[in-house]
Amino acid sequence: MEEKSLIYVAGNPNAYPLEYFDPNTEEFEGVIPELLEDFSAQSEYEIVYYKADGNDYRRQLAKNNQVDLLSGYMYGDSMPENDGSTVLLLASHNDKEYIYYIYFTDAATKSFKDDLIDYISTISQEEFTGLLIEEATTPKENTTVYWITGFLAAFSLLMIIAITVLVKWYGKRLKNIQQNVETDEVTGLGNMEYILRYYKQYVNDKNRILYQAVYFYADTDRLRRLSSSEATDEFLRYCAMILGEYTGDSDITARVSDSGFVMLKFTGGAGSLDKWLDNVLGRMCAYSELYSKPFDTGMSVGIYQLRAEDRDINEIIFQAAQGAYKAQKEGLNYIYCSRQMMDKFIEERQLQSSIERAFTKNEFQLYIQFYVDAHNFKIVGGEALTRWHHPQKGVLMPSVFIPLLEREKTIIRLDYYCLKEVCSFLEDLAKESIDTFFISCNFSRETFAATDFVGNVKKIIDEYTFPRELLILEITDSTSVRDSAQVRQNIIDLKEYGVRIALDDFGEGCTSFYDLQKYPIDGIKLDKGLVDYILTPSGISILKAMIQVGHELNMTILAEGVETDEQVKILQDINCDVIQGFKFFQPLPKWEANKKISENYCGK
Ligand code: C2E
Ligand code: CA
Ligand code: CA
Repeated sequence: MEEKSLIYVAGNPNAYPLEYFDPNTEEFEGVIPELLEDFSAQSEYEIVYYKADGNDYRRQLAKNNQVDLLSGYMYGDSMPENDGSTVLLLASHNDKEYIYYIYFTDAATKSFKDDLIDYISTISQEEFTGLLIEEATTPKENTTVYWITGFLAAFSLLMIIAITVLVKWYGKRLKNIQQNVETDEVTGLGNMEYILRYYKQYVNDKNRILYQAVYFYADTDRLRRLSSSEATDEFLRYCAMILGEYTGDSDITARVSDSGFVMLKFTGGAGSLDKWLDNVLGRMCAYSELYSKPFDTGMSVGIYQLRAEDRDINEIIFQAAQGAYKAQKEGLNYIYCSRQMMDKFIEERQLQSSIERAFTKNEFQLYIQFYVDAHNFKIVGGEALTRWHHPQKGVLMPSVFIPLLEREKTIIRLDYYCLKEVCSFLEDLAKESIDTFFISCNFSRETFAATDFVGNVKKIIDEYTFPRELLILEITDSTSVRDSAQVRQNIIDLKEYGVRIALDDFGEGCTSFYDLQKYPIDGIKLDKGLVDYILTPSGISILKAMIQVGHELNMTILAEGVETDEQVKILQDINCDVIQGFKFFQPLPKWEANKKISENYCGK
């Protein structure tokens, strides 16, 4: 059977008996719905009424062309401003002529209009009047028209009053209940329930492409760290107020997560929101200054253009949120989600769902990239790097999965897993009496800064007998000063235990000489970014100074990402101790690394 075309109708909830919203059935009832149902049965159209909540949304729905048809107008009602066309329904009753209107919006197709007009022209005035009387007299009576007329005058008046009161009371009650369930307690904005309901009501296959979803992400974690929960809530309330100001008649705004607001913005299709966003974000960012707060506040925004097939609002919000998350990570105010980005998000989500399996099936594999002595190029040690051997996607690099694990807070699990792998690798070497090859192991900042980090590391290493100084724990610095005391204490305890500590990515981003004083470390790894500039006069001076300072503090200096002969030459000249880079070795799977080490150290 052929599928029927959907026709959306906005009804008048209060035009009894012509058309009204029945709170019991939560349907529109009355003469017009009945006629439209009859029309639907005879035609290729399926009529769908917007399930309103007892309020009249016709003006709003008409404005956005969200419906094909508006109904329930009576003579004297003010009609919609849009250009559209009307069709009359005439009824005579008690020798009086009654005129009702149905109104086509621009969304209605010509063929639908023609068909409905044809259908209405086949209905006689008597038939219509009959329907009217029938609707007004419940239960239906099969007596004379005179009796009905007399009865009707009194009864329908009573009914109208009764129903109006009932509808109003019910509407109010319904609204109160709904408001509680659909309101975000902190900000007073709507919540997820709210947006779900309104999305269903207003957005459909026809007008979906006229909306953009704008996700506002506030970094509340950071805010809570810098201030208090109450201060964070205050900021969120302020944001909600600004968003309220910028929410147009046809937009829907809600707080959908701890730190996220979403606005379904009626923009008429894809287009730039730059100017609008600059205004909104400008207002939000003025918060600290306006209220003399001791911290900065910011918002990251993701904008997702809805497609006709995007029926699931959760999915839409997810996509826009991903854009906001990316904007935050890249230090941008906002990002428009492109198709390419979306595909990447989808892929990431698929990966995310297979992380657990990856751990249980040992899909994370240890690779080792060798370090060489900067002067004789002999292998002296290596860095442990992880690869994900994904059964469908092949070998995945850390840049693909580490951010996912960080987001999922499972990076800690990978770090300890990797540490165990490294320990077992070193143990195997010790069995071969190779006791000078060292391995450095990466730890995320979160893992390293945890209060139980030292205990956990000791528990793992205590299972093995290799010399502890062969294990180097790499730590990266970050701007966060919050946990630096704990990091420092962990370093001291671990050194006392016998392992060594290196500062990774030195010279990148926020690391500074100050860190060298802050942390009692054994070595630094000069970031690839510095090595890349080694051929410029300032590049070489900076590296030279760093190496000098490092040596004065008794540290071993390693240069990362070395790719060319020129870089090697200069690093030798300025006294770098150890080199890591594709110039010498790519990361190798552990079995291959083990083979190579055995050959090198035992002359096999
Ligand atoms: P990283 O600690 O800075 O590791 C060095 C990265 O530079 C490695 O990338 C390595 O393959 C790459 N590299 C080495 N030499 C060269 C070179 O000459 N040229 C270029 N272009 N790149 C070079 P990889 O393996 O993709 O790892 C990326 C990052 O992922 C690592 O950066 C590290 O921070 C992180 N990572 C890898 N495995 C783990 C792990 O098990 N745990 C944690 N927490 N992080 C890991
Ligand atoms: Ca590293
Ligand atoms: Ca590094």
